[in-house]
Amino acid sequence: MMAARIAAMVVAASAALVWLAAKGWAVAGFPPIMMRHQVGATLVLDGLVLWGIFDRRPPVFGVLVSRGRPHSPAVAVTFDDGPTEPYTSQILDVLRKYDARATFFVLGLRAQAHPEVLRRAVAEGHEVANHGWDHAPLPLRSPAYIRHTIARTSALIAQITGRRPCLFRAPYGWRNPWVNPAARLEGCEPVAWSFGVYDTDRPGADTIARRSIAGLESGAILLLHDGRSLDPSPDASQVVEALPAILEAARTRGLRLLTLSALLADAALER
Ligand SMILES: [Zn+2]
Repeated sequence: MMAARIAAMVVAASAALVWLAAKGWAVAGFPPIMMRHQVGATLVLDGLVLWGIFDRRPPVFGVLVSRGRPHSPAVAVTFDDGPTEPYTSQILDVLRKYDARATFFVLGLRAQAHPEVLRRAVAEGHEVANHGWDHAPLPLRSPAYIRHTIARTSALIAQITGRRPCLFRAPYGWRNPWVNPAARLEGCEPVAWSFGVYDTDRPGADTIARRSIAGLESGAILLLHDGRSLDPSPDASQVVEALPAILEAARTRGLRLLTLSALLADAALER
């Protein structure tokens, strides 16, 4: 719904511009050919703006990291929208069993509910990163709002774990021109992901594992979810169930399982 609203606003604003331009040109006596160029240019601009908002890694609103170097024999498994219980703790149990590191892009509101899970994650070598306070989409928000949702979440994570996060991932991956600068002002590199597997649709643990394993290649950043937006009682059991097969496959392929910061530090940034 939010996507449709944003698209409608961009198109309406463009239509208004074209109308104004046409009126102005009619008065000034410009030939109709100018009008056609104006419409064409506006459509191209619309396309760029919508691409910038909804694609997870277009350069329109500034470049961001979406994978490590293709030749580094490592991957980063990331979990968004948590922590939730019992799932995040169950994921930590599986990671411990496989001696794997992962990254949790947490929501401030969820972190507030389960601070002990964040402390455990950090104690066991995982990375806790910033996914905003309440998963509110950012494209229609002001620079001040965006900076505030990032700052507030980082402050809480630092207070709970003793470490300030250094990565930010926008809710839904949707950005506007102020997201990257706001994240960097708060000391966070804006990041996306290489591939997701639609795990929140709950397609079955086998499907989640199969899709994840298919995308496991050097430098990949896998997007999974230990929550679902602000849903207070999401069901992430299929992700928990799929995880051992995914970690096993990475190991079999000789891919180290690193935190995202470690993957990027190891690999230098590939955009
Ligand atoms: Zn999310």
